[in-house]
Amino acid sequence: MDCGIFGIYGHPEASKITYLGLYGLQHRGQESSGIVTSDGKRLYSHRQMGLVADIFNEDVLKKLPGHIAVGHNRYSTTGTSELKNAQPFVVEYSKGGLAVSHNGNLVNAHILREELETSGSIFQSSMDSEIIVHLIATSRAPTVLERIIVSLQRVRGAYSILFLTENSLIAARDPSGFRPLVMGTLRGSYVFASETCALDLIEAHYEREVEPGEIIVAAEGKLNSVKPFKEERRGHCIFEYVYFARPDSVVYGRNVNEVRKQLGRVLAREQPAPVDIIIPVPDSGVPAAIGYAGEAGLPFEMGLIRNHYVGRTFIEPEEGIRHFGVKIKLNPVRETLEGKRVVLIDDSIVRGTTSRKIVKMVRDAGAKEVHMRISSPPTTHSCFYGIDTPTREELIASSHTIEETRQFIGADTLGHLSLKGLLSVVGEAAPHFCAACFTGEYPVEIPLELRSPQLGLFDSSQNNGSSSP
Ligand code: AMP
Repeated sequence: MDCGIFGIYGHPEASKITYLGLYGLQHRGQESSGIVTSDGKRLYSHRQMGLVADIFNEDVLKKLPGHIAVGHNRYSTTGTSELKNAQPFVVEYSKGGLAVSHNGNLVNAHILREELETSGSIFQSSMDSEIIVHLIATSRAPTVLERIIVSLQRVRGAYSILFLTENSLIAARDPSGFRPLVMGTLRGSYVFASETCALDLIEAHYEREVEPGEIIVAAEGKLNSVKPFKEERRGHCIFEYVYFARPDSVVYGRNVNEVRKQLGRVLAREQPAPVDIIIPVPDSGVPAAIGYAGEAGLPFEMGLIRNHYVGRTFIEPEEGIRHFGVKIKLNPVRETLEGKRVVLIDDSIVRGTTSRKIVKMVRDAGAKEVHMRISSPPTTHSCFYGIDTPTREELIASSHTIEETRQFIGADTLGHLSLKGLLSVVGEAAPHFCAACFTGEYPVEIPLELRSPQLGLFDSSQNNGSSSP
């Protein structure tokens, strides 16, 4: 799952700080949220469906005492949308209590689960993360850390993960470093979070990333780092830059807003358009549109206004709701758009349904021409490492050429940033990124049974980056 995780060790108000941290990570998951704390003797837990602000209040936080805490915001990808799948996942086993907050998807979850079930493990949820818990519980290694190490050595795929025990907080990141995870300090306490924007909110000092393949243990008042895994090809998720992370965060060592503006500048060079104004699809298209407008020397205008009190529409599981969601989320400004030739900028096209509605909305508001520009290449492949992309069949670019997609969304022209352009923005670090959603090249192999049965491997000849009528 692409989720938000947060943990703190050694703070007298650990649950309140975690609540704030989760608030700062709300964009990473809006389905459910939870906090588990420890006072050194036992664990306390509260998990609920919904948004952080609706779940936690003074009364709830009072029932979460202790100086260690982990929290989680869930964005469902694997597992169904229900409370038993909310995290942090908590268990009691032979070594005591254990809570887990996991961001990412495992690619061998189904195999391990079957194995564990055959040997007697009983699962409470449909989450990947519970597999790690069972591996830890059934391990014979003597210490919790050793149990975590042997368990993580068996799983394949993406995990940025936090473990809480009665007296420790343990952070780990998979050897490819698919999902982000950073570490900070706050007046003598140690903090871990998916993104630095959560550290900013609690005024913690950003120290560094948890490195790919690193496990950091906060216990007995100090930190201890180990790197027990064999080196793997790095696979930092490039989609965190394109869409998922918050623009004020520093992810993989770079500020997301600056990266997105640069994507917009390269897009303007690759896919120019003879227009009057540049309009972002808020919020996801804003930084790229600023970059595009600056590079093209054209005015940037907020021609679509977003209602900020609506959640991200994409997470609504049912088709019907998502369609309705676009309308409650965005409204065009007729006075800005009327009679204009516009470039609309968004970060990605997934199913194409959002773009189609937005293009129509902008035309209905009087725009003379609507040119769609996307600050990433066509999304042709599903993500198996935690981003909520639908199956390949549902990805419009997996079965449509750019021209067919243009027709579907109803734009005058459609242009995507090229893969080369996207990678140019991360420069020398490009080999360390996973761009499988755009290329089909998965850094950690995807078992055949998880691949789409209908569509074979990616045929890159279909998509050449742009289209016009
Ligand atoms: P679609 O209608 O499926 O083409 O949706 C595309 C819109 O969804 C774009 O505006 C993106 O900003 C947004 N988007 C892309 N990927 C995701 C994701 N994994 N979760 C939520 N929204 C997304």
